[in-house]
Amino acid sequence: MYATRVADRVYMLDTFALGQANTVAAYVITGPKPTLVDCGYASSTQSVLAGLAELGIMPSDVRYIIPTHVHLDHAGAAGALAREMVDAEVFAHERAVPHLADPTKLVDSATRVFGEEIMAMYGRPEPIPSGRMTAVGKELHLALGDGLSATLIHAPGHAPHQVSVLLNETRVLLTADSVGIVYPGLRTLIPTTPPPSLDPHELVSTVRSHKQLGAKALLTPHFGIRTDVDEVLDATAAKVTSWVKDVADMAARGSSLEDISDAMQLRVGREAGSAELPIYAKISIRTSVMGVMHYLSKNA
Ligand SMILES: [Zn+2]
Repeated sequence: MYATRVADRVYMLDTFALGQANTVAAYVITGPKPTLVDCGYASSTQSVLAGLAELGIMPSDVRYIIPTHVHLDHAGAAGALAREMVDAEVFAHERAVPHLADPTKLVDSATRVFGEEIMAMYGRPEPIPSGRMTAVGKELHLALGDGLSATLIHAPGHAPHQVSVLLNETRVLLTADSVGIVYPGLRTLIPTTPPPSLDPHELVSTVRSHKQLGAKALLTPHFGIRTDVDEVLDATAAKVTSWVKDVADMAARGSSLEDISDAMQLRVGREAGSAELPIYAKISIRTSVMGVMHYLSKNA
């Protein structure tokens, strides 16, 4: 079971990232122009295709693929999927398009962050022919047929090459990583602040502008639907701000990445009321601490 209906004409696909349920979602908008928003890791390609098959959508039916940004859990499978989805046009931010056309730099940068062993589990992204991609600037309107349309909105901060997707008529917002990690069952929010191109100020300003969109529901990649829209957006802005401050304080006292990650894991565990966090939550926390430290060192 990969596909779950989450809103009018929208299904969530569990990509079973590294074999794990409920950690990385992609979304499908159904109708005359089936649209895939986010793709999962390259190693999740078959899960995404299986989810579409559950919905009776053949790869050749898909018209639009929207990798919200180039991080490997969102765009890793985009190239392999685009190869299968022969009639699909790919929409991505103008700063994402060059990396999707040639993922070499992206893979090098991710290998520095995660190491060879983990990269092998994520799988290698395939290039997407430039002729199949349309670059998104500040905003782009896309008609999805049968009275539904989407606006792709530049959503920098988590990464400069990110877009969120608003379904205009139903006010459903596919947030990409503009909002924090809200794993089901984890009763708190983890900031999504990875290296290498985090800008926490832009992230907070993206969250603020998303608050003005009048969204009725947030579809988050990590993981699922939230209808407490303002609470999630406010918690994201507050957490990003407090983590930057607290990580800066600890780093200034000479704490290492591992020390700070341990401290933040304890904090999240306390907030969630659980003694032992799942491994993917621990990895997310460590990656977010790493991103804040990288940002601080660049802006020292
Ligand atoms: Zn990301």
